[in-house]
Amino acid sequence: MGKVESAARVVKKDVLASTQQVVDQALSNLGYVEDMFELLKEPQRMLTVRIPIKLDNGEVKVFTGYRSQHNDAVGPTKGGVRFHPEVTENEVKALSIWMSLKCGIVDVPYGGGKGGIVCDPRTMSFPELERLSRGYVRAISQVVGPTKDIPAPDVFTNSQIMAWMMDEYSRIREFDSPGFITGKLLVLGGSHGRETATAMGVTICIEEAAKKNALDLEGAKVIIQGFGNAGGFLAEILHQRGAIVVGISDAYGALYDENGLDIEYLLSKRDSFGTVTTLFKRTITNQELLERECDILVPAAIANQITEENASAIKAKIVVETANGPTTLEATEILSKRGVLLVPDVLASSGGVTVSYFEWVQNNLGYYWSEEEVLGKLKDKMVKAFNNVLDTAQRHQVDTRLAAYMVGVRKMAEASKFRGWV
Ligand code: GLU
Repeated sequence: MGKVESAARVVKKDVLASTQQVVDQALSNLGYVEDMFELLKEPQRMLTVRIPIKLDNGEVKVFTGYRSQHNDAVGPTKGGVRFHPEVTENEVKALSIWMSLKCGIVDVPYGGGKGGIVCDPRTMSFPELERLSRGYVRAISQVVGPTKDIPAPDVFTNSQIMAWMMDEYSRIREFDSPGFITGKLLVLGGSHGRETATAMGVTICIEEAAKKNALDLEGAKVIIQGFGNAGGFLAEILHQRGAIVVGISDAYGALYDENGLDIEYLLSKRDSFGTVTTLFKRTITNQELLERECDILVPAAIANQITEENASAIKAKIVVETANGPTTLEATEILSKRGVLLVPDVLASSGGVTVSYFEWVQNNLGYYWSEEEVLGKLKDKMVKAFNNVLDTAQRHQVDTRLAAYMVGVRKMAEASKFRGWV
């Protein structure tokens, strides 16, 4: 396999600091005093755990894991667990704040949470991953639960990992607890539509953004950076809707064809981590891909991809952030001045947690909905959220990211105030 494209340009900026900056601005635009920012700038609780795992070769390796709970004024905290070698404490904190914002934007009764384990699942066996997943749940079991903090899938975690985690939690508590975690397999109490929920949510945002720009999605040229969970599904859905997917990429490189790529073929060839470009001789870099001709650009890979260095070179008229934090604040300003319609991450990627909420409701009810029902409810929530963010941007004359933060933080700040915390 080729070398992963160097992270040289992908400097891991302090995501926590930039998140705090926008939260601060959002709160002050909403008229909140400094104390509210003091409360919301950091998570309420951040747990660091060390998880000893016996590897298949008999050695013991101790992994570091985190669980951050941002604010539970609105309800239990909620958010995924990522398995990635570059997980850091600050990143997990920032991601938990983003989860709070997403929950506020789509108006589901949760605060934000997030977890992560510093590991590389690509180099681990199935039994090792199972031991790690179960070990993580044992380590955090005191602070999580169906009415406290509800994990879910995130980068490099999936429904199998959720199944092991749910089983471990149920064993510890000695009763079956499907509502402890979402993103489960259907046979274990998962919801129809959950697996494709993030991509469906992004698709709904793309449709709404296209409508706003009077662009016909059928025949529109789309570039998707990232071909994993979200990017892969998205390519499939957009292709089915008649859009022309002209570019895709993975961690090793990118493919571009102005006449459209053979998405069905690429999907059939990718591995479970979304890698496919290693099968091709002629590829371009991820950075080159972002600057190629298209109508809609969907960064669905990693953070800090559109920066002040390349923002002026982006050709797309619509940018829909499917990854977390793909556009820096400086780049947001440049794109916004150029009149590019930016659908920010906290809005575009909120379909996942929305259907997670539906899954949790179904678990609590013990009554399950059809796929049609779930998708209808998802569409309602996403369209409302999209229009709410765009109206707020218009009304307050702010960029769409700040508008999304204002919508996202409002209910949480209100709830914190009425609980008497600030
Ligand atoms: N990890 C996903 C996200 O970041 C889903 C979270 C959830 O379903 O709770 O939005």
